[in-house]
Amino acid sequence: MNSAVLLAEENKQLRIKNQRQKKKRAKRRSYIATGGVLTVQEGLDLSQIADEGLQGRVASPEVTVKTRAPRTCSMCKSLSHTARTCPTKQVSN
Ligand SMILES: [Zn+2]
Repeated sequence: MNSAVLLAEENKQLRIKNQRQKKKRAKRRSYIATGGVLTVQEGLDLSQIADEGLQGRVASPEVTVKTRAPRTCSMCKSLSHTARTCPTKQVSN
């Protein structure tokens, strides 16, 4: 009888802990969603908003909209690879 009461109490505590962990996990996930990972539709929407913003700001249509610079290696500035695959990095390792 007594152990049943203890088990019930322990069960209650575990449920509370579990709820807290679930909340924590949900928070972390939503943070990632807003901070980094976007769905395709969200990405398209954001890029469209950015495009509209640029068009509004640019006074004359002759002004070329600056596109993103091509990926270069930050180690040796080569266009053929990135710093992640840079041969100089691999040599130093
Ligand atoms: Zn390199």
